[in-house]
Amino acid sequence: MAKRTPQFLLVEPIAKTPFPPLGLMKISAMLRKRFKECHIFAQVGNEVPAGLIRPEKIYVTSLFTWDLDKVIKSIHFYRDKFPRAKMYVGGIGASLNPDYIRNMSGIEPHIGLLDEAEAYPPDYSQTFGRKLNASITFASRWCPRKCRFCSVKTHEPKFFARDNWEKDISKSFPKIIFGDNNWTASPNFESDCKKIEKYEMAVDFNQGLDARLYGERVAKRLTSINIDPIRFAFDDIKSEDKVIRAIRLAKKYSKKEIRVYVLYNFEDTPEDFYYRINLLNQEKVLSFPMEYRKPTSSKTKFPGRHWNTELLRALKLSLLFYYRKGMITESRKSFISIYRRTPEEFVDKLYDIYKYDKALKRKK
Ligand code: SF4
Repeated sequence: MAKRTPQFLLVEPIAKTPFPPLGLMKISAMLRKRFKECHIFAQVGNEVPAGLIRPEKIYVTSLFTWDLDKVIKSIHFYRDKFPRAKMYVGGIGASLNPDYIRNMSGIEPHIGLLDEAEAYPPDYSQTFGRKLNASITFASRWCPRKCRFCSVKTHEPKFFARDNWEKDISKSFPKIIFGDNNWTASPNFESDCKKIEKYEMAVDFNQGLDARLYGERVAKRLTSINIDPIRFAFDDIKSEDKVIRAIRLAKKYSKKEIRVYVLYNFEDTPEDFYYRINLLNQEKVLSFPMEYRKPTSSKTKFPGRHWNTELLRALKLSLLFYYRKGMITESRKSFISIYRRTPEEFVDKLYDIYKYDKALKRKK
């Protein structure tokens, strides 16, 4: 009797980011290496891909904790269809809330990175419906800082530098995306710079460079690399001096666009948030507001101590309607016309936006 070609299924229960799930792409590469002959199917949501008859293993990923109900639905859907397949569940959402997965499905999720797959380059043939134009890699995992609002300490608890990240680079893409959470703190910083210099394509450290470590030496060193855009984070007003210094140094040594993530709805006040975005606007850089959400499975948003649902909704609306891709652009004129000149006026404006939106909805 002819030997059956093994089949494997990779599932992304819900696609909410422009990038395909890196973990599943690595698992795909690992499976291809282990099984010379195999069929690997990648699926977003709940649907049996054409040609899939009897998968031996099903890998389900997760991202946001508030979408874990979708993960559970996928687990049930594929378990009903393929009760004999061995199912694995992992990803950031499952790592942050393993109890939910365990209680709702009886499956013990994998927490953190899957070490055996980590060494493999992503299988770029598995795009999960995205149009990919960049290689995706990590030169290091972990972050030495332990910011209270950040979950990196849970899903990347151990430091390790990947000496072989170049295996992940495909010359067919015009860009390289590094997902390192704090590459500037990596002991491999210098050797990585030397490796990156060899590539002409644009390089994006899309989790941001640590402004506190971005001094004259680092700014100068990075001039040999085509980093575009340059990203920082301004999550806490206490780091104002370091962030402004980093921005000015980046401008001194580079002409590339600067984007700054700005956390809100944690312990900040709306006035403090305004202070930070206003400062960034005065520095003529882009702000990228990031709303803090508790890593729970609840769909409900919990306003931080100093925020409320009206203000959160109005801020989201302002970003959606006035700005491109949720980023506050450099134009001073538009900033003032949208967010006004003082923190108090900013808060009043948000309430006006909220009321206006509510009135519009009533009319419909
Ligand atoms: S510096 Fe960034 S990655 Fe590191 S713990 Fe803080 S928020 Fe997380």
